[in-house]
Amino acid sequence: MTDIAGNLEKIRTRIRQAEHQYHRTPGSVGLLVVSKSRSVAEIRAAMACGHRDFGENYLQEAITKMNTLDDAEICWHFIGPIQSNKTRAIAERFTWVHSLDRIKIARRLNDMRPAATPPLNVCIEINISDEPTKSGISPDTLQPFAVAISKMPRLRLRGLMAMPKPCADFAGQRCAFQLMYDCFAGLLADNLQLDTLSMGTTEDMEAAIAEGSTMVRIGTAIFGTRPK
Ligand SMILES: *Cc1c(COP(=O)(O)O)cnc(C)c1O
Repeated sequence: MTDIAGNLEKIRTRIRQAEHQYHRTPGSVGLLVVSKSRSVAEIRAAMACGHRDFGENYLQEAITKMNTLDDAEICWHFIGPIQSNKTRAIAERFTWVHSLDRIKIARRLNDMRPAATPPLNVCIEINISDEPTKSGISPDTLQPFAVAISKMPRLRLRGLMAMPKPCADFAGQRCAFQLMYDCFAGLLADNLQLDTLSMGTTEDMEAAIAEGSTMVRIGTAIFGTRPK
């Protein structure tokens, strides 16, 4: 089996080194372990190393794992596309949603978040590379969208998320993340209280940290290449 503990240690080291190199506050970049398509045994191996935050893209797969793990101590993050018939389960079972990009979905999550639980933490997904078939909203429409969401009492708007177009060179990767930082700074200037920039994956986490990421989302570097 993959050396999950060893890989996690390597990722922690990469995060610490990038924080240092790009003058980020030590400990300011969190790690979301992306467990889509990975087994419960693999999640348990990461939990044994002290990890509590896991990201899933597909609701049904996530719920099966949640029911098996009976997971009082796990903080689940939904990071995939959201269909409106899935909002109730997402509102009930997750602590975070990173992929919010439609007002109708936001309203449904707000209405369906159980009263007994704290507000659902949400990030707005931005289509930062302007790809026609990708999810996420355009930076042009971000401001009114963010203001509307910040007024929903059962959601807590934490920040922004993006999955830029893959780019092999470091400078190109930084460009997309810098645009994200500009969007984030614009909302802060409008007095929105945000603290989260969810950006950076296995391929581009150093560039994301250089541009202000506070949460990298890593799957492949921890668990190996995903099964098809
Ligand atoms: C799969 C996925 C990741 C993790 O990507 P890796 O390249 O495996 O590190 C991060 N974010 C989202 C939204 C994903 O779907």
